[in-house]
Amino acid sequence: MDNPTESTDDLSLLRSVCSFVLEEMERRRLIRNLELFSYTDLLTGLQNRNSFIKMLDKLSNEALGSLGVIYIDINGMKKINDSNGHEYGDRVIKKVADILKLHVECEAYRVGGDEFTVLCPNIGKQDFQVLTEKLIRDFDKNKEYNVSIGHTWKEGNVSADEEILKADDLMYAEKQRYYHAILQGDRMARAGVATELLRDIANHRFEVHYQPQICLKTGRIMGAEALVRKKSKRGSLILPDRFIPHYERERVICHLDLFVFQTVCADWQNWKRQGVETHISSNFSRVTLMASDIVAQIKQICRDYEVPPEKVTIEVTESISKLEPQQLIELMNQIVDEGFSVSLDDFGSKYSNLSILTTLDFSEIKFDKSLVDKLSSDAKSRIVMKNTMQICRELPMTRSLAEGIETVEQLDLLHQYHCDYGQGYYFAKPMSADAFLELLKKEQRTGTSVWIQSGP
Ligand code: C2E
Ligand code: MG
Ligand code: MG
Repeated sequence: MDNPTESTDDLSLLRSVCSFVLEEMERRRLIRNLELFSYTDLLTGLQNRNSFIKMLDKLSNEALGSLGVIYIDINGMKKINDSNGHEYGDRVIKKVADILKLHVECEAYRVGGDEFTVLCPNIGKQDFQVLTEKLIRDFDKNKEYNVSIGHTWKEGNVSADEEILKADDLMYAEKQRYYHAILQGDRMARAGVATELLRDIANHRFEVHYQPQICLKTGRIMGAEALVRKKSKRGSLILPDRFIPHYERERVICHLDLFVFQTVCADWQNWKRQGVETHISSNFSRVTLMASDIVAQIKQICRDYEVPPEKVTIEVTESISKLEPQQLIELMNQIVDEGFSVSLDDFGSKYSNLSILTTLDFSEIKFDKSLVDKLSSDAKSRIVMKNTMQICRELPMTRSLAEGIETVEQLDLLHQYHCDYGQGYYFAKPMSADAFLELLKKEQRTGTSVWIQSGP
């Protein structure tokens, strides 16, 4: 109603119009809110990616005198979320936004989960420099998180798209430097673990024990598996599952594997000098076998102690199949060409895949203790064991060995399945080199199996 001249004291018309006016006002408020939400980042209150795109559109149609762009990315956001939870991650994002809000009078946007952009159209070079320095100083001050920042400023004939790309590239270059520094730190930490391990080796903190492996047909000792132990500061023995995974994770396990192998070869030479000759199996981690010259190193150790490669089995686990296929084939060929045997350890544990038997030629399959454990109690396990043993027998040049035999029932069943060799507490626990030598000598003296005579 524009300038009413009559019936100005009649309020009924105004009353009926009032509800329409209110409705329209509410509609406009909702639209305003919707617009606000679609252009605002709800977590930080900064403008969001939609708003950023709208602004870019606007800038590309404007004749800009100058443009300053800052690109900010939080380093390692995924790790922050993974290790501290998303709520904490959100707090970090808000803190970054707060610093931006504090200093940036131009437009700041959250353009991605952990990415922010600041657009400063028509800003002087000096002012832009002061702004970026303030931001960098404040981000540096906090110890909770790190950001990578790229910034550009250009005057005359500016393309906003190009400047943003440039700032993004600069931010990325800084991020690379950040990750490089972290990697360097990692390497230093690893060097620390390696030094510690080498010191422990030099201080005789590791011992190699031997667990006899028995030919099930004759009951005679066929050889032994070397198993490493670590001496605690108080002198008790620590089992390998407590320290091997750590050395594997830190990628320093090769030092230990090669030390164990060298000890094994030295012991073999000593036994040989005392008139007994046996076969030895040594465990090698996949990480150790990744070194390109590993076979040459193993060969050299054998040569140093005059151990013929035919007397040596290299035990690997299924995880070896994670090596690059080409590297794996070359490795297996090299090992076999040198005359060593390769045993597939822990077969049947977890998710064994039969295809490994078709792709690689193993000299021995070691059936895992978990399979042997279930033999007496579980009919299905007996079927699996019997038939995989059969597969093994049909594979050319592959012997079968069952690990963790503890009872005579298990042994009887393995006999029935024509398993070639056995190892387990039923026969003997891992023992010192001297104790193993005594056992070998006893068997040699008596000319019969020590197990058949004296029982477990
Ligand atoms: P593995 O190679 O499968 O060795 C067999 C494990 O089963 C040994 O445990 C042995 O003591 C245990 N064992 C044998 N028979 C029986 C039995 O009848 N009952 C029971 N309960 N256990 C039995 P250990 O010595 O604790 O070694 C654990 C694992 O540590 C080994 O499993 C092997 O994967 C790894 N390991 C040992 N020495 C080395 C090494 O020098 N280098 C690497 N990379 N790994 C090693
Ligand atoms: Mg083994
Ligand atoms: Mg095993």
